[in-house]
Amino acid sequence: MPSPNPMVARADVPRRSEIEVHQASRLKDALEVMAAGAAEGKPWMPVAGGTDLMVWITQRRVVPARVIDIWNVDGMRGIEETEGSITLGALTSYAEVRRSEVVAEWVPPLVDAARWCGAAQIQSRGTLGGNIAGSSPAGDTLPVFSAWDAELTLVSTAGARVVKFADFYTGYRQNLLQEDELILRISIPKPAAGSLQVFHKVGTRRAQSISKVMLGFRGHLGADGTVEDVGISFGSVAPIVLRMPRTESAVRGKVLDTDTIDAAVRVAGDEVVPIDDVRSSATYRRRVAQNLVRRYLTALSKS
Ligand SMILES: Cc1cc2nc3c(=O)[nH]c(=O)nc-3n(C[C@H](O)[C@H](O)[C@H](O)COP(=O)(O)OP(=O)(O)OC[C@H]3O[C@@H](n4cnc5c(N)ncnc54)[C@H](O)[C@@H]3O)c2cc1C
Repeated sequence: MPSPNPMVARADVPRRSEIEVHQASRLKDALEVMAAGAAEGKPWMPVAGGTDLMVWITQRRVVPARVIDIWNVDGMRGIEETEGSITLGALTSYAEVRRSEVVAEWVPPLVDAARWCGAAQIQSRGTLGGNIAGSSPAGDTLPVFSAWDAELTLVSTAGARVVKFADFYTGYRQNLLQEDELILRISIPKPAAGSLQVFHKVGTRRAQSISKVMLGFRGHLGADGTVEDVGISFGSVAPIVLRMPRTESAVRGKVLDTDTIDAAVRVAGDEVVPIDDVRSSATYRRRVAQNLVRRYLTALSKS
């Protein structure tokens, strides 16, 4: 049988014009609309840049009855530096991250992650909040937020709550967001001066490909040469972005000699839980994850 012509609308796919759309411009109004929708059992699904959601709708992976466009909502953009952290509005695009001197100074791996997300069109429209809420274990910015101990501010008409990024994901593509809630902003604590900070993406190629494995790594040695602080997170090796507390414990407070690094690499091999899929095999992903842990612990030992 010939494959269906993709240009011809199929009867079983709802037309986009049947989706109710609300254009929001003020945060308060957006939250009130979302609260009312949730209360009446007809929730509004937020759309920010639409680079994920429009694809999911076309593929019928989600079929929202109602969509609230938050792209122009006030108070959800901007990158700010405070004494102890940098804060990014959830609507911050990859292009804005790439242009930001504050991010380049304090968390350069986030600039690297933004640089390798899609191409220019995706970088102009795709947002950090969308990457986080999309909850894909292959979301490129997630290992950075995870390893850097980021916090998320979630907001609804009931008020704001701050959740640790580490607690945000509850399962494969599941998170803590309620139907009436938006991610408002992301805060990243500033790493100690002199920290080694890395984002490393492994894919078929670096741009325009979904990652097979990616790593967010930050580490800092104390004056005595032991590991004073370390954060290690992987994407695409588990159902959710994976912080590696056991691997971190294997090196924290220790001198990074060969035995310590070898032991940490073994722990890392146990700690990741990769799967075989169309992009790669579990065996390859585990080996790559271990190689990356070895590479950056060795680099940290020489920093
Ligand atoms: C060609 C192409 C290439 C891509 N390449 C990459 C890549 O290399 N790396 C990568 O990680 N991703 C990639 N993506 C996926 C996508 O671009 C990113 O995940 C992007 O960050 C999504 O942001 P958005 O604003 O477009 O999200 P949207 O599509 O608007 O929304 C995605 C989801 O998040 C929810 N949402 C959005 N904002 C909020 C908010 N503030 N509060 C609560 N919920 C919210 C929406 O309801 C929806 O469920 C690619 C997509 C395409 C089409």
